[in-house]
Amino acid sequence: MLWWCDSCHTPVLANVCSRCSTRAREVMITPPADARPAFPSDISHVNRVYSEHFGVPLIPPGHIVLLNKVPDPDRMEEIIVGGGVVGSIKYLPGESRWEAIPRPQASVFMTPRRKFVVVDNGAVPSIQQEGASVLAPGLVEIEPSVSRGDEVFVLDEERAVVAVGRAKVDAKEAGNMERGAIVRTRRNFPSNCTRGEATWEDAVEASAGVLEEQEAEAISFIRDVAARNPLPVNVSYSGGKDSLATLLLVNKALGKVPMLFADTGLEFPETCRNVEEVSREFGNPVVRARGEEAFWKAFQVHGPPAVDFRWCCRTAKLNPVEKVIREHWGECLSFIGQRKYESFRRMASGRVWRNPHLKSQLSAAPIHHWTALQVWLYLFRENAPYNPLYESGLDRVGCFMCPSSDVAVLRQIEESHPLLWQRWSSRLEEWQKEKGLPDSWRGEARWRMKGVPVEEDNNC
Ligand SMILES: [Zn+2]
Repeated sequence: MLWWCDSCHTPVLANVCSRCSTRAREVMITPPADARPAFPSDISHVNRVYSEHFGVPLIPPGHIVLLNKVPDPDRMEEIIVGGGVVGSIKYLPGESRWEAIPRPQASVFMTPRRKFVVVDNGAVPSIQQEGASVLAPGLVEIEPSVSRGDEVFVLDEERAVVAVGRAKVDAKEAGNMERGAIVRTRRNFPSNCTRGEATWEDAVEASAGVLEEQEAEAISFIRDVAARNPLPVNVSYSGGKDSLATLLLVNKALGKVPMLFADTGLEFPETCRNVEEVSREFGNPVVRARGEEAFWKAFQVHGPPAVDFRWCCRTAKLNPVEKVIREHWGECLSFIGQRKYESFRRMASGRVWRNPHLKSQLSAAPIHHWTALQVWLYLFRENAPYNPLYESGLDRVGCFMCPSSDVAVLRQIEESHPLLWQRWSSRLEEWQKEKGLPDSWRGEARWRMKGVPVEEDNNC
């Protein structure tokens, strides 16, 4: 689903670049493979994590960068630069910090100043070809700050990177060793990386053909579904990028229809402003379903929603939406920005469906098979007013305290929106005191897991 043009230095949505007409090469990334653009704040974040560990930033200026969220107990992102994976960052909730996990290809863009070992050139073939560990007899030098457990680069005597891995011992101990493993190296699928600057405008041009085709396909899907189901039409608008792309497409296909906004009362202020701004700019009226009152009423009974006890979707979203639909239209057809690459679960769902908890709404997903990158390139092409939260390092903009969020994301929100978080935290504290729960229930975000069997999988 992802290709790279080595002439234009941009990602491409197809195997031929629309900008220079040359063949693009496929980029291998970890499934579900829904890479998204890294915004300047994301790039600064990655560079900060790499600088703290290796003494130098990973990403040089002017390069297009993608991030790909990969399966992890909390949060891990693959970093794609120059058409290949150059490394990852991984959040360690117990230590409240991010870890830099490089690939050998990172050396195309950086030379480590710290956290490296130098090996005898004679040891290089077995390390590179057989994935052997760095052993004490082959060690020429170990940078003094290396501690056991650190991610390190393995360099040859000419200081070229031959591998990456994790140190098995501290630098001090390594110096006294005559045998044993110093670094356990790590093998990854190989990737190609080339240096070269480009802009997102270039990337839009490189995928111009696909964007046009896919837009036409989505528009004809929308017209077709609307013709087969003669119901009042709206777009389910959340303030997120996917619903914005869907709104643009529906406006082109059918003209201006209402935006149905489920305001849970737990939205970011930026999201509420985006709903108003988009409505003003495109002239789509907003129909609002309000869930705030019901949410807090239920909170007093159940406590905070949890990953395995997600009463919130039905209470704060589905029920209020159902009520508003019945009041306004009786029954309706809603176009929704759901995409199959968002999760493995959504991969299995169809393009038109009816939620069993929301019977008055027939749902259809025009961008079901679009990747996040495709959505972003489309929004860039259309110069669409997307939610500024995406530029502050968040990749989703739903309820700010969503229990399904990673700890990494909740900590980030706590920092970026302290007042909002404080309000939530004080409600948690009230519940904690009332139930006599330990401080770690709140402090370590354990409220997110209730420990009850999962009853159902709502469409949140
Ligand atoms: Zn090109």
